[in-house]
Amino acid sequence: MTIIGVVARSLRATLEMALPTTCGGCGTAGATWCALCAHEAGRVTYPGGPRQVCPKPSPVGYPPTWAASPYDASARAALVAFKDGDRRDLEAVLAPMLSAAMATALATDPGLRAVLTSGNGPVFVVPVPSSPSAVRRRGDAPLELLTRAALARAAREGSRGQLMFSPALRIRRRVADQAGLNHRQRATNLDHAMQVQPRWRASVRGVTCLLTDDVLTTGATLVEAARALREAGSGHVAAAAVAATHRRLVATGGGFQDGDCRSQPCGER
Ligand SMILES: [Zn+2]
Repeated sequence: MTIIGVVARSLRATLEMALPTTCGGCGTAGATWCALCAHEAGRVTYPGGPRQVCPKPSPVGYPPTWAASPYDASARAALVAFKDGDRRDLEAVLAPMLSAAMATALATDPGLRAVLTSGNGPVFVVPVPSSPSAVRRRGDAPLELLTRAALARAAREGSRGQLMFSPALRIRRRVADQAGLNHRQRATNLDHAMQVQPRWRASVRGVTCLLTDDVLTTGATLVEAARALREAGSGHVAAAAVAATHRRLVATGGGFQDGDCRSQPCGER
């Protein structure tokens, strides 16, 4: 099923709930996610499904990463409302997108495919950690909820037993809000900011990991998360995200370009 189909299906499911609510994309009364926003989301997601995406410049240690949608229009509205607007019900819209990006990563990335086809799994699915202050402010960790929901979908679609939810990472020191920082500042802000939690250290050793994130911007978050996993001895690391900003990004394989970006080979470095 294409991402447009996935979004349309989740829209129908959402509409059927018929709760007195407002659209998480535009605020119109009547549905969690209105028909116009669903149409817009279908229009802005990458045609043909999730794409491998690569920041430019691509930072050292950047894991191969797939995203479902450009961080644009309704994807942005839905993610902001989901994380910071108390609209956790938008999980119904966003989990299928993350699940689709994960499925494409698992089907495309040679390191992930090797584990799954050899039966040497499971692959650990590791959400990028929220800072303790963000968890206190929000009352929960939205990306963990989203990752669990995406995994539940993957299990229903046949990946049961091959993927394991593994919230192995934590933030180990104070970090500034990444918003408003350029790519160098983001990398410095996050350098050695994450670590594998002690109770997960023995488990991640030698294990292939699929990171999950909401929005790919400069790649600094995924670079730090992958570094922390590798430092703890994990095997191959790849990543899946709901959306990717495209001012600094190019997608590979499908010709997606924006502004002065140029397609470039994209792989683990
Ligand atoms: Zn709407």
